[in-house]
Amino acid sequence: MSIQVFGQPVSRGVAIGRAVLIASSRVDVAHYYIDAQRVESEIERLRQARNVVATELTALKRELPADAPAELPALLDVHLMLLRDDVLSSATKQWIVTRHYNAEWALSAQLEVMARQFDEMDDEYLRERKADLEQVVERMLRALSKAGPLLPMASHGDDHAGEDPLVLVANDIAPADMLQFKGSLFTGFVTDVGGKTSHSAIVARSMDIPAVVGAREASRLIRQDDWVVIDGDAGVVVVDPSPIVLEEYRFRRRQSELERARLDRLRHTPSVTLDGAAVDLLANIELPGDAASALASGAVGVGLFRSEFLFLNRGGELPGEDEQFEAYRAVVETMRGLPVTIRTVDVGADKPLDRLSIHELRHEHSLNPALGLRAIRWSLAEPTMFRQQLRAILRASAFGKVRVLLPMVAQLAEVRLAREALARARQQLTDAATAFNEVELGAMIEVPAAAMIVPSLLKELDFISIGTNDLIQYTLAIDRADEAVAHLYDPWHPAVLQLIAGTIDAANRAGKPVSVCGEMAGDTVFSELLLAMGLRSFSMHPSQIASVKQRILRADTARLAARLAATLGSDEPMATWLRAAGGPGAHAAAKGE
Ligand code: PEP
Ligand code: MG
Repeated sequence: MSIQVFGQPVSRGVAIGRAVLIASSRVDVAHYYIDAQRVESEIERLRQARNVVATELTALKRELPADAPAELPALLDVHLMLLRDDVLSSATKQWIVTRHYNAEWALSAQLEVMARQFDEMDDEYLRERKADLEQVVERMLRALSKAGPLLPMASHGDDHAGEDPLVLVANDIAPADMLQFKGSLFTGFVTDVGGKTSHSAIVARSMDIPAVVGAREASRLIRQDDWVVIDGDAGVVVVDPSPIVLEEYRFRRRQSELERARLDRLRHTPSVTLDGAAVDLLANIELPGDAASALASGAVGVGLFRSEFLFLNRGGELPGEDEQFEAYRAVVETMRGLPVTIRTVDVGADKPLDRLSIHELRHEHSLNPALGLRAIRWSLAEPTMFRQQLRAILRASAFGKVRVLLPMVAQLAEVRLAREALARARQQLTDAATAFNEVELGAMIEVPAAAMIVPSLLKELDFISIGTNDLIQYTLAIDRADEAVAHLYDPWHPAVLQLIAGTIDAANRAGKPVSVCGEMAGDTVFSELLLAMGLRSFSMHPSQIASVKQRILRADTARLAARLAATLGSDEPMATWLRAAGGPGAHAAAKGE
């Protein structure tokens, strides 16, 4: 029977596919399709892995010391029994034969199926055997990875005749793990936890595939291989849809593909409002490889390069100066002279460094990471690393136009210290006769304290960029990654709007550039409001640029500005703004498009 699960819509569009359930601890398992000719050899790989594990377990049992606890041999027997279990091996083989999954994927798919069966058992002893099964599968996965080279992951654009599209279902996926799914087979995904602006959701959006997060029970209600519809516009997941529902969603998917194709034609149209105001639309990127899609989307530069993603998934070792330089240079060169804004590392909170990293170990685990040593605070506490990053950025500036952006500034002193660090980095490069160009220094306004001292900050800065994701989090005291308070995460809150409007106004008065690079910039519901506030630079995921441009092309800034005062003075700004809307964007905004 068909069921529906509700969550937060994260990335637009409709995805229809078979569910692949992935446990958080197993996101690094390779998922790829094998050719029909490889089915037999893949089954052979599986068989060999099973033999390796059987030998391992038998040896372990044989070599147990005489004084080992009595349960241990019995436990190893259970593991051996599970390993030889017919259901595990024949069902795993079935995934390979019928779906052409690679062995690792087939094994973890079957584990998810059996784990659920264990969960549903009445007998506590049997229920607890799930942990044993997981350990056995873990051993097999290890044996498989040692046994042979893996095939590269295929991209979801590849043609795998006969194979169904896939959607990923997980309880949670850390932002660092999320990166592994860029360019993967999945055409959509759903997670139980997370808010609309959690970093996992942001990476999902950058992948431009339909996604729903914070769907609470999804990974429990959806079974491996179920057909699932992910409605990334409404935040709905339909499990096992009826033929009629499926047809309706297929129709909607076609409509949204047509709409995208239509918007695509705006790619190279300059973004100018009806009354002639030019608006810069820039791209947010996470990895150097994203720069190509930024350029292709018609972005006039990179407004936010979240450099910390270079620092995640590193197994304890962080990228050195040269490696960083190469990454920054790659982006700068791809952008062919367009400005590239590199944000210095914003680690901490929901983007912790690898626990093995010495830098992470040095700082005791914070009780409240969102308020702890993150972003610029972390960089200032690690001056050597900070200067190393600044040198790498400066070196990349020799190849194009580069700007440095400091995350989560709250104090003037932080800007001054960062300026000093930049001056020292410049001096070091000069001493070493290494080429670099002038770079502008900017700060993110994402803490209310910073929003309230913009004029002072701007005396020390060349530009600012408003990080609305964090600004909302810190203004409303709402953890942006916590689905339990997601309903309270309100960009329309009068306090939030006043801080944003005040920041834009202060920068415009000071004659310094200001942009918005939080998710509000790419959300067309806010395009006219931000224009009304005087914003002329928006930075967003490349895939959002065309639809924001469409709103800009239809906007009249003078008429919009006239509506602003009433909205900012209102107890209910959203209602006031939308009621007063007369322009072409108003109807769509009212529908929440
Ligand atoms: C923000 O906070 O709005 C922002 C752009 O930075 P991040 O989402 O990476 O915290
Ligand atoms: Mg932020």
